[in-house]
Amino acid sequence: MRVKILGSAAGGGFPQWNCACPNCRALRAGAFKGKARTQTQVAISADGKEWFLLGASPDLRAQIEATPELQPRPESPEVVRHSPIAGVVLTNADIDHTLGLLLLRELQPLRVYATESVRRILTEDNSMFKMLQRVPNQAIWDDFETGGVLALINPCREDTGLRCRSLSLGRHYPAYVSPQRQSELNSREASLGLIIESQSGKRLAYMPAVPQIDDVLLKQLDASDILLFDGTFWNDDELIRVQGSGQTAEQMGHVPVSSPEGSLSKLAQLRRPRKIYIHINNTNPMLNEAGPEYAKVRESGWEIAEDGWELDL
Ligand SMILES: [Zn+2]
Repeated sequence: MRVKILGSAAGGGFPQWNCACPNCRALRAGAFKGKARTQTQVAISADGKEWFLLGASPDLRAQIEATPELQPRPESPEVVRHSPIAGVVLTNADIDHTLGLLLLRELQPLRVYATESVRRILTEDNSMFKMLQRVPNQAIWDDFETGGVLALINPCREDTGLRCRSLSLGRHYPAYVSPQRQSELNSREASLGLIIESQSGKRLAYMPAVPQIDDVLLKQLDASDILLFDGTFWNDDELIRVQGSGQTAEQMGHVPVSSPEGSLSKLAQLRRPRKIYIHINNTNPMLNEAGPEYAKVRESGWEIAEDGWELDL
């Protein structure tokens, strides 16, 4: 299985359009030892020809243009419309995670895997998503159950050999979902982590939003070969420190990297997976490669994802 990291920042990207935090300011001034990043986006493929997106980021157009594997490769010169993107697996209904679907609306056949709750939010409550349903078999929505095994099938109904399992992680739906609708939904379907298994049995764990780390999750993570884990915030009160108000990491559904209950400490016992932080907020001090937080993460055996990385497993 090939894994491309097209984007590695949390919502807003790095730098973020309305942010003048020390990181964003230094990056814009050309005085930052570290990389700019687009909003988190991962693509996977069994054969390097057909790709599935994990979520669909608002930066998807630029991310496709930066990634030759995802650009059109029609079989004959007469065909002008083509995409190697076979489908999308959604893990929640957040704008940062679903807006890119609207960028894929050019009548291109696409399979969209989502829980029933997430599909209903997008297709029943948000009329713009009808642009994906203008002709029969444009976007084929497939509901999946959390915990079950999902076979990733391309729009021509061919099995790619990739298998996907989802874990229920967060129970909060985005703020734009009405209270009435929220009362009808299954809270276990609000935010998921994914375990993708290749035909050879190698496992990728994709966990960009993890509210807490328990023993069940630890067991799943230790059975993976590559772990892409929630690196959103360094501290629980990071946003409040930087902007003077706001929510804690915990309130936003992210376990911080640092602190005794943080991922650096809790996941230190994992032996098997290659450990990589992804979904890093622009305020996170570990983005600064000259700083002590970056050094600590690297000395602990973790990597920090960058846009354009490719992983093979
Ligand atoms: Zn910032």
